[in-house]
Amino acid sequence: MTDWRSRSTCKDVDPDLFFPDAGPLPRSVARICQRCPVLITCTFDALRRNDLGYQAGLSKAERDRIRRWDRAQRARMERSAS
Ligand code: SF4
Repeated sequence: MTDWRSRSTCKDVDPDLFFPDAGPLPRSVARICQRCPVLITCTFDALRRNDLGYQAGLSKAERDRIRRWDRAQRARMERSAS
């Protein structure tokens, strides 16, 4: 287990909680992530990977939306720099 994962609040939680049917973030998962000491690291990891389920308190759809926004911002910055 990666070191930061060993400090997470979800390390001893049933992983199935993070893979519910599509829909809004379950409150139980939100509460687990909100009090997690490695939330920031987990967020960067989740955005770097393309996994399914909830991670860092975000659904896959929310993470995809952040990635699209990030790509658009980078493209805009590259256009304005050239
Ligand atoms: S932020 Fe949530 S998913 Fe990420 S390690 Fe912490 S508890 Fe687990």
